[in-house]
Amino acid sequence: MSKTKYTRIFLKIATMTAIIFATAVTHNTAYAQSDETAPPFDTWLSELRAEALSKGFDTDVVTRALAGVTPIERIIELDRRQPEFTLTFRKYLDGAISDKRVKRGRELLAEHKKLLDQVAAKYGVHPRFLIAFWGLETNFGDYFGAFPVAGALATLAHDRRRAKFFRAQLLAALDIMSRGDMPIDVKGSWAGAMGNFQFIPTTYRDFAIDFDGDGKRDLWNNMSDGFGSAANYLSRSGWDKNGTWGREIRLPDGFDFALAGLDTKRTLAEWQSLGVRRADGRDLPRVDVKGSIVIPSGHKGPAFMVYTNFQTILKWNRSIFYAIAIGHLADRIAGQGRFLTPPPASDVPMSRADVKEMQTRLTSLGFDTGGADGVIGRMTRNAIRTYQTSVGLPPDAYPSMDLLKKLREASG
Ligand code: CA
Repeated sequence: MSKTKYTRIFLKIATMTAIIFATAVTHNTAYAQSDETAPPFDTWLSELRAEALSKGFDTDVVTRALAGVTPIERIIELDRRQPEFTLTFRKYLDGAISDKRVKRGRELLAEHKKLLDQVAAKYGVHPRFLIAFWGLETNFGDYFGAFPVAGALATLAHDRRRAKFFRAQLLAALDIMSRGDMPIDVKGSWAGAMGNFQFIPTTYRDFAIDFDGDGKRDLWNNMSDGFGSAANYLSRSGWDKNGTWGREIRLPDGFDFALAGLDTKRTLAEWQSLGVRRADGRDLPRVDVKGSIVIPSGHKGPAFMVYTNFQTILKWNRSIFYAIAIGHLADRIAGQGRFLTPPPASDVPMSRADVKEMQTRLTSLGFDTGGADGVIGRMTRNAIRTYQTSVGLPPDAYPSMDLLKKLREASG
């Protein structure tokens, strides 16, 4: 595959991840801010500059970083973009994990072994996970993003949709620049994620470390700082050095799918007694840990038992698909095979129109989805689960074309 084509596809995956994130954030904060009218950009920027200086950031750095900054139209477009189709686990996994990426991950694991072992000894994060994050974030440093960070963050901080969040990011970026850790013309993703591990500025400010001790926290060119910072962030987000992320499992016939989901935690002994086994049929490990069951493509697809570290990966990126992909890529790099149950062929994307129709039909049957917006959120999943239970389907809360067909038959 050509480098250009590869970059385009990679950008698409990164953007899809960002859209999931953006959609989740929208429900929490956007509407509270949307009624306000933004002041003219120049007025707003002067005021922001004054705030940055009041925080004691370097005057010269702040002045140069904000000089000539203007809103970037393309970033507003990317922020507003709504996916036409749902992203399935099957499609996500195809984009995230390839044999080529696994092979390169293994080579890089060997190449950086000494450094990774030092980082692991200090922070308790196994090297295979650090390589997996590096692979998913930037394809091992191939792609850092092409937008000027100050301009991108100013655009999104001036825009009303997520103004508060991005204002904090912009101020954090100016802070890092003032400390001399990164140049003022630095580039990143359209939402301001930077370097080998795509840290957003507040994460950079609070968790990046100078692992090689040269006086700078360089997340672009220095893999000591890069791996050290990623491990420090994971460690301080609750990483369990003695545990793994999770594992593929096999569910018994007649399993109660209402028990799937991160809200239900049981000990492995309890899951064992409910008939849950490792994917190859062997007993679950006899260790005293709790786990939750995740089924990313519904009851017909693979099932996973996930542990504390899975929750920590979700603090890095709240997408369940991302967290499974990190764990699986790490395992593949360490020599394990593919999933024994691949995502099923029936795991096909739904269009926004399909999702809206599904929501409308569920609501009219008395299962309230909280509106028909074409976005699958918690209320829609709850409505699906209640409907499935009421008609005797496995209550996996999974939206699918099969489900939509059943709803069409039910509501005529
Ligand atoms: Ca350094």
